[in-house]
Amino acid sequence: MSQTITVIPGDGIGPEVTMATIEILTAAGADLEYEEHLAGIPALDRMNRLLPDETLDSIRRNGVALKGPLTTPIGKGFRSINVQIRKEFDLYANVRPVRTILPGGRYEDVDLVLIRENTEGLYVGVEHYIGMHGDPCAAAESVMIITRFGAERISRFAFDYARRHGRSKVTLAHKANILKYTQGLFLDVAHDVAQEYPDIEWEDRIIDATAMYLVMDPSRFSILVMENMFGDILSDLMAGLVGGLGFAPAGNIGADVAVFEAVHGSAPDIAGRGVANPTALLLSACMMLDHVGQDGTARRIRDALDRVFQAGETRTVDVGGSGTTRDFTEAVIRALA
Ligand code: NAD
Repeated sequence: MSQTITVIPGDGIGPEVTMATIEILTAAGADLEYEEHLAGIPALDRMNRLLPDETLDSIRRNGVALKGPLTTPIGKGFRSINVQIRKEFDLYANVRPVRTILPGGRYEDVDLVLIRENTEGLYVGVEHYIGMHGDPCAAAESVMIITRFGAERISRFAFDYARRHGRSKVTLAHKANILKYTQGLFLDVAHDVAQEYPDIEWEDRIIDATAMYLVMDPSRFSILVMENMFGDILSDLMAGLVGGLGFAPAGNIGADVAVFEAVHGSAPDIAGRGVANPTALLLSACMMLDHVGQDGTARRIRDALDRVFQAGETRTVDVGGSGTTRDFTEAVIRALA
């Protein structure tokens, strides 16, 4: 049965890369219906709301959304809409796969998935100034929150993901040697969950050593799971192994809703010029197809992307080419087997 998805084109280059992505999905025969809704600056302009109820209702109804980048207006009082969407639907798992597509990088065969806990850790934003000796900002304090519930559900997610995607190893990266309570709890819980998955190899590593090994030999790893801030940092490091954020898709997954988006932002410097690279959003759409059980179509699109990058004839400016978004879209459509 056809799956209806909510599409939020976003702003900046968002509408350009979203249109390109949907054109390729359609050409590949994805069995999807699209319900387009606004969020961010376009929603503020037209509906006087950054995150309209209609958009949230559509995501809730469909359970799956494809989202273009959204500019966060500068200035106090504006919360990131991306964060609001994650909170609204309790999208606790941020899944960031990185895979070599562009030949000639540091490594030829990177194939990793980072699973980042999306709701806890230092990023809960529990922080404040402490005044001393007449200075109201003499010190600042931030609280890292790890719960057994949060650590357990993200660990379980990582092992289930490994099983579902035929991967045989999960690595927990942590700092339990220093942060003995917060990171220690995460490690203990992950260790217990690992015992329920004897078919999956499991290891834990200190976060700093993990960063070094990722750069020296990424083939040591397959799936990495970690708390929020560590995941934020290492997922960008991993994107750097395969050519940068232009190749970085993401899924934000909760129990009932999943939102797929590129990791890059709205790129205001090139918006409206027709030169944006749609690869990251297209790869996010492939994750979405996997999620809704259309993995055959996802594979065809990934194979087409591989062929276009290997041929090297049509590349957008950000990867050293001179092709436009349209040139690239047409090349991928031609390469669909
Ligand atoms: P950015 O990712 O938008 O741009 C950084 C650089 O990369 C720019 O030079 C841009 O031209 C280039 N770039 C990014 N995506 C590209 C693509 N697909 N093709 C070709 N070049 C590309 O980062 P920024 O400038 O720091 O952020 C701009 C806005 O986006 C900010 O308001 C930020 O808050 C927002 N943002 C949104 C998301 C999201 O919606 N998920 C993520 C990150 C940033």
